[in-house]
Amino acid sequence: MTADPIVRMVNVEKWFGEFQALRNISLDVHKGEKIVLCGPSGSGKSTLIRCINQLEKIEQGKIRVNGIELTEGKQNVETIRQEVGMVFQQFNLFPHLTVLENCMLAPTKVRKASKADAAATAMRFLERVKIPEQAEKYPAQLSGGQQQRVAIARALCMSPKIMLFDEPTSALDPEMVNEVLDTMTDLAQEGMTMVVVTHEMGFARKVADRVIFMDRGEIVETADPETFFTSPQQERTKTFLGQVM
Ligand code: ADP
Ligand code: MG
Repeated sequence: MTADPIVRMVNVEKWFGEFQALRNISLDVHKGEKIVLCGPSGSGKSTLIRCINQLEKIEQGKIRVNGIELTEGKQNVETIRQEVGMVFQQFNLFPHLTVLENCMLAPTKVRKASKADAAATAMRFLERVKIPEQAEKYPAQLSGGQQQRVAIARALCMSPKIMLFDEPTSALDPEMVNEVLDTMTDLAQEGMTMVVVTHEMGFARKVADRVIFMDRGEIVETADPETFFTSPQQERTKTFLGQVM
């Protein structure tokens, strides 16, 4: 591919004290690409995606996001965070703000959008995630699935270049998992660049361009979903798939 990748990680190493959480991670994420990241608990999946918007600092290697070097100072970090949407397991909505206010906060504070523009954009994305009628409610008045869809809408209001999802359905009751996966599938089909940490292998099969398997801080295997699920090459991948499928 000739176009600059949205994310380029080169030989990234991350330590927490004596413990090495990421080992020699190199990864390009191209525009429009959908990557599913899977692996056992503690394998470094969250750490990897948190490094992409510098929620974690790296000890070695390079990370570029949208052509900007992350390791070159604070200014760049702020710029990058505006381009990277992040959705967490625990929604992380502001409890004292309404759904609409949650969605308007970053566009008005960071992008200096007018209130009217921010509200119009927020409503547009709340419609996209199919909950415009919840706009005036507070997060605690919504179901988990609705809160997660608000979190997705809130991230989209910043027009991110890439969306990072860290186990977005893991905290949900089973009956709410599909509404969030459906929202993410829609987003994928609209062409969003996405990196998704998930154990939802049905979603991976349907949506991913590439599936990446991590174990003990390393990328062990990368493949298209068909190959990944039908003929994984590495023993560690086979063992993992035996446990989650
Ligand atoms: P995963 O998301 O794959 O479950 P994580 O990226 O959360 O894994 O964690 C990878 C490893 O790094 C784990 O062993 C975890 O205990 C460790 N770790 C993560 N965050 C910290 C931290 N802030 N301080 C110390 N160790 C951490
Ligand atoms: Mg994690």
